[in-house]
Amino acid sequence: MKIGILDADLVGRQKHRFPNLVCEKLSGYWKEHGAEVTLLLDYDHFDEYDHVFVSKVFTDTPVPEWLRETEKVHIGGTGFFFDKAPNLPDEIEHHMPDYRLYDSWIHSEVERAKTEYARKGKPFNEKSFMVQFKEYTDYCIGFVTRGCFRKCPFCVNQKFDRVFKHSPLEEFYYEGCKKICLLDDNFLGCPGWREMLQQLIATKKPFKFKQGLDERLLTDEKCEMLFSSNYDGDYTFAFDNIADYDLIHEKLKMIRRHTTTRCIKFYVLCAFESTDEVDIENTFKRIALLMDYQCLPYIMRYQNKNDTPWKRSEYKGMYVSLARWCNQPSIFKKMSFRQFCEANQALHKTEGTYCSAMQAMVEFEEKFPDIAAKYFDLRYADGKGGEQ
Ligand code: SF4
Repeated sequence: MKIGILDADLVGRQKHRFPNLVCEKLSGYWKEHGAEVTLLLDYDHFDEYDHVFVSKVFTDTPVPEWLRETEKVHIGGTGFFFDKAPNLPDEIEHHMPDYRLYDSWIHSEVERAKTEYARKGKPFNEKSFMVQFKEYTDYCIGFVTRGCFRKCPFCVNQKFDRVFKHSPLEEFYYEGCKKICLLDDNFLGCPGWREMLQQLIATKKPFKFKQGLDERLLTDEKCEMLFSSNYDGDYTFAFDNIADYDLIHEKLKMIRRHTTTRCIKFYVLCAFESTDEVDIENTFKRIALLMDYQCLPYIMRYQNKNDTPWKRSEYKGMYVSLARWCNQPSIFKKMSFRQFCEANQALHKTEGTYCSAMQAMVEFEEKFPDIAAKYFDLRYADGKGGEQ
C-alpha cells in the first residue's frame, strides 16, 4: 500500500516551520500497518498513491481549487473545516506520531542550502541552519488535554464546554526526545492538571505549552510548580481582553511573588472588537501593564479566513508599528513606542517625508494627543518588575 501525506501548511506557507501532528500520527499508523509512506511536497502526483491525506491547520493556507475529498484523497484539519473539523478515528488519534516523517524533507533542504551557499562561495554552517527545524527534530508533541470552556469568540476552539484528559503522556513521549511540546488549549483548566504537571516535571525534559497557558486560572500552587520546573523557553500567556484587566493585574502580582524571570510573554489580541482609537488605546493599556511587570507583549492582529479587519482600518499603520515594536523583544526592551518610530525615521532615505511608522504615529498623536501622552513614551526598561 502506498500512502502519500501532504502537510498543506508546509507546502503552501513560506517559512512555515512546525510539524503537522495529524500527518505524523497518520504516518505512524500506516507505517505500522506495513504501508510505504511518503511526505508529499506538491499536489502533482496523487495518482501514484493508493491514498493521499492532506491536512492543514491554518485557514488562509492556499490549496489548489480542484482539491476535493474523494475515495482516494482525504482532507482534514481546522484549516479546511475550522471548528467543525471531524475527529480522527481513535486508532489514529491515539497513535504514536512518526517523528521521522519530515526527515527526508529536512535532508533535502539542507542539501539545497549547501549547494546554494557553495554557488555563492559562502561558508555553510549546518548547525545554525538546522535551528529552524528544531520543532521537527527535538520535540515529542501531543495533547495531554483537549477542550476549553471559555468559548472566546475569536477562537477556533468551540467544540467543548470543558477541559478533559486526552492522551496519557506515554502515548506520544519517547525517551530519546530532547524536549516535550504540548499543544493543549487550556491545560490549567483541566481538573487533572496537578498529576499531569507532576508527570511532565518527572521526565526531567524541558517542556512547553505552545498555545500558551490561561493566566486567569493561576493559583499560588500552579505558579510554584510551573516556575520551578524545567520549562522550555518563554512562559506564554494571553491578555486578549481589556475586560480582564483587573484580574490579569492580580495574576501578574501573583506571578511576581513566585519568579523574577524575564521570560514571560503575553499574547495581546487586537483589532477584534473594533479597529478604532479605542482598540488602539486598549492595546496600549495592556502593553503598559505588562511592561510594569517586566513581561513581554506579543501583538496578535485578529484575522479570520475571510477577513483581516486591521488592514481596512484607518489606523492600519499603527497596527503594523505596534506589532513591529512589540514583537521584536530586543527592540521592545530598549525603546518606547516613540523611540521605535523615531529610529525607523532615522533610517528613512527620502528626505522631507515620514517613514510609515513615523507617519502613523504623528497622525495618531495629532488626533489623540491624550492617548499619545499616556503611552507613547513608556519603556519596558522603566518597568518595576512588580515591585510596587
Ligand atoms: S481560553 Fe484560549 S483556548 Fe479557550 S476559547 Fe479562549 S482563546 Fe480559545
